Amino acid sequence: MPKKAKGKHGLLVVISGPSGVGKSTVVKKLLSSNPKLKLSISATTRPPRPNETHNKDYQFVTEEEFFDREKKGMFLEWAQVHGYYYGTSKSFIEDQLLKNNIVVSEVDVQGAASIKEAVSLGHVKTSAVFIFLIPPSVDILAFRLRRRKTENEEVVNYRLRAAIAELQVMEKYDYIVVNDKVDTASEKIKAIINVEKERVLLN
Ligand code: ADP
Ligand code: 5GP
Repeated sequence: MPKKAKGKHGLLVVISGPSGVGKSTVVKKLLSSNPKLKLSISATTRPPRPNETHNKDYQFVTEEEFFDREKKGMFLEWAQVHGYYYGTSKSFIEDQLLKNNIVVSEVDVQGAASIKEAVSLGHVKTSAVFIFLIPPSVDILAFRLRRRKTENEEVVNYRLRAAIAELQVMEKYDYIVVNDKVDTASEKIKAIINVEKERVLLN
């Protein structure tokens, strides 16, 4: 009988992609499909958007609180993204993985690289799969980012320039999923998770 890899727990699903591609939207759809999927709620110094809730979308913290947590080693990884700080809670991920849940982590390309290293060094005992979400085109990305109306034009342009740079590293991911329709992208990620769960069993 194939066994789970010794000492490893659950599965960590890391999702990256340019700002405005639809990560939060697709992840929300994905989470509603399976109660074993748990969102890793990051801490951030970015102010909340009107539709965001503290402790649900992010833990919105001051810079002082953020770096206090960082000094205490509470982050699995942290990075500065688009001028704000974002960090992944180590204890949340460890607790959920111990419960054999599947943790979905939405991080930028720096965060994904740090998580990959942490997993390969055994700092977090799990299998991980890295998924990069891309827009059907850069024009559609710009349209989605502007239509969201959560950033001013200067910030939108900055995020679009960053997107071009982020798209250069997508080959480092295990899977690339096009977010054309939310339902289709979510179904594709579900299929990836199902396959990856079997891979853990066969390790
Ligand atoms: P991200 O989390 O990647 O920054 P969001 O999930 O906030 O992106 O999505 C950006 C905007 O695009 C939102 O207004 C969202 O409703 C919209 N959106 C997301 N996915 C799609 C899609 N497949 N088709 C059309 N609009 C989408
Ligand atoms: P937003 O401000 O649009 O919510 O997120 C901006 C960027 O920060 C996105 O690329 C998102 O994936 C990334 N991000 C969110 N949480 C984290 C985190 O904990 N760590 C890292 N490295 N990036 C994060």
